[in-house]
Amino acid sequence: MDKINHDVFKNLCVVSAPSGAGKTSLIKKICSSEKISVCVSETTRKPRKGEINGTDYIFIDEKEFLLRVKKEIYIEHALVHGNYYGTSIDSVSQLLNKDKVVILEIDYQGAEIIKIRFPLSRHIFVLPPSLKILEKRLRERGTDPEDVILKRLENAKIEISKAQHYDYILVNDDFQLAEKKLLSYVLDTDMAIDEKNRKEPLIDKDF
Ligand code: 5GP
Repeated sequence: MDKINHDVFKNLCVVSAPSGAGKTSLIKKICSSEKISVCVSETTRKPRKGEINGTDYIFIDEKEFLLRVKKEIYIEHALVHGNYYGTSIDSVSQLLNKDKVVILEIDYQGAEIIKIRFPLSRHIFVLPPSLKILEKRLRERGTDPEDVILKRLENAKIEISKAQHYDYILVNDDFQLAEKKLLSYVLDTDMAIDEKNRKEPLIDKDF
């Protein structure tokens, strides 16, 4: 990361969530602000219906991914639900150098690496109101077969157990309120500063 002035890392923002918590929809909403950009990850997962290469992800095969790992192209990478995902150094640097707040939509393994490498980065975890609601959302979106849904639900329990390590925990119950809060956390405005370290409790015994 030699190409970057290190002050810009305060503009790096990690957002994690279990699948189906509504993270991607929330991020799409707040990205209408021109101050914010999302870094497009690379993955070996097959595209879902409607996903566009280069917009949702850069879709590559496993051989190419592992070659890129060897070449140290990624700032972080991880195996998530059986597929590889990684954030390239170049894509992050380009956005940070444009003076944007850059969102990395990544899992907890990647988040841990980013926190160690860039302690100034802000980390936000999006929770569903409960595991039952998460399951309902995963089934209703209809993008994944049953075995994938079951794997993602099982992994959700591990992911949720990591939420306490994030700077902010956001429960996506009321979408509009969650959108407002996410925007304030990402832009580090007054509302976020007030809520820093006042994490919302993991209310549902389901968790
Ligand atoms: P999905 O396949 O549903 O789009 O994403 C599955 C999981 O992979 C999500 O938790 C998502 O945040 C995570 N993910 C997406 N891109 C990256 C990445 O570049 N690095 C890491 N570590 N996780 C990622």
